[in-house]
Amino acid sequence: MKKIFIVGNWKCNPVTLAEAKELFDLIAKGAENIKDAEVIICPPFLYLSHLQNGNIKLGAQDCFYEEKGAFTGEISAVMIKNMGAEYVILGHSERRKYQQETDDIIKRKIDSALRAGLIPIVCIDNLSQLENLKGINGLLIAYEPFHCIGNGKACDPKKAEKMRILIEKEIGKGVSILYGGSVNSQNAPHYVKAAGFFGLLVGGASLKAEEFVKIANSLTFS
Ligand code: PEP
Repeated sequence: MKKIFIVGNWKCNPVTLAEAKELFDLIAKGAENIKDAEVIICPPFLYLSHLQNGNIKLGAQDCFYEEKGAFTGEISAVMIKNMGAEYVILGHSERRKYQQETDDIIKRKIDSALRAGLIPIVCIDNLSQLENLKGINGLLIAYEPFHCIGNGKACDPKKAEKMRILIEKEIGKGVSILYGGSVNSQNAPHYVKAAGFFGLLVGGASLKAEEFVKIANSLTFS
């Protein structure tokens, strides 16, 4: 059976390292008994090297497409890998919106992440964003309908399931597809157990340790 992925995207939070450590430690403690799922936390870059626990994998929220050089302010995939992270979220709708990231830029980032040995978690909200992803092995896709992110209005699980099936048709069954958009501990099982997603990308609720751990526990199959 394929693994279930529970990914926490902390976005631009919290504002101190002490808070990040406290949140991370609470999540790690709560996730101690989760055996049949991969729990991944994606904090801001700055905190990556300060957060460590055997129960939790780390991911970044973006990477640059070049490995190194004169690119002021950028963080490369190799640097992220060297910090101990294994995943990177790419193409998040907030980056498409606020940083004007295009499908072509995202594709270059995916290629650099794969070259560095990171697993890209690529966010899409429609089928056209899949075009550049066909035939690429080793990534996860997060279906995140734009209008469902960060507002408590999660997608109807039946609609999400239809989209999952369409994505799977386009991209093949080998790729795990996650759902993201206003996930909480009440609705989480609807997407994974009922609608057939292989995990969740969780934003707001990943900043509340107890709620995030509840989400993770709601998906265990034992
Ligand atoms: C996200 O950040 O990818 C996300 C889905 O956020 P939220 O869970 O807050 O809607």
